[in-house]
Amino acid sequence: MEREEPEIIKEFIESEVSKCSFCGFCEYICPTHHVSNDRVYSPRGRINLIKSLVLEGWFNGMVEKSIYTCLLCRACEYECPSNISIVEVILKTRYLLVGGGVRLKSLPPV
Ligand code: SF4
Ligand code: SF4
Repeated sequence: MEREEPEIIKEFIESEVSKCSFCGFCEYICPTHHVSNDRVYSPRGRINLIKSLVLEGWFNGMVEKSIYTCLLCRACEYECPSNISIVEVILKTRYLLVGGGVRLKSLPPV
């Protein structure tokens, strides 16, 4: 039996986020973290939330705001010693969220 696309996407996300050591090297370079001074809007914070969402099925409004406010600039990827495809993880998480009917209604004040 052919596997469902969301299942394949979840596997990709799981393998990428499991490489995160939570070292925080990515945080200082992230523009949304710089402006907000809030870890929820940092690459590490996003990875952490995605991990909870995809692996544990945990969800709250914070996930939506954090994931949709990433600028997809890839600055964090240049700093990540674990070579995590952070932007790809975020894009695929957005895909799953939209597929599940979760869309950002209004941008939060970052
Ligand atoms: S730099 Fe990479 S490994 Fe370190 S916290 Fe950020 S995403 Fe995780
Ligand atoms: S790609 Fe997203 S998480 Fe990474 S530095 Fe840019 S805004 Fe921050």
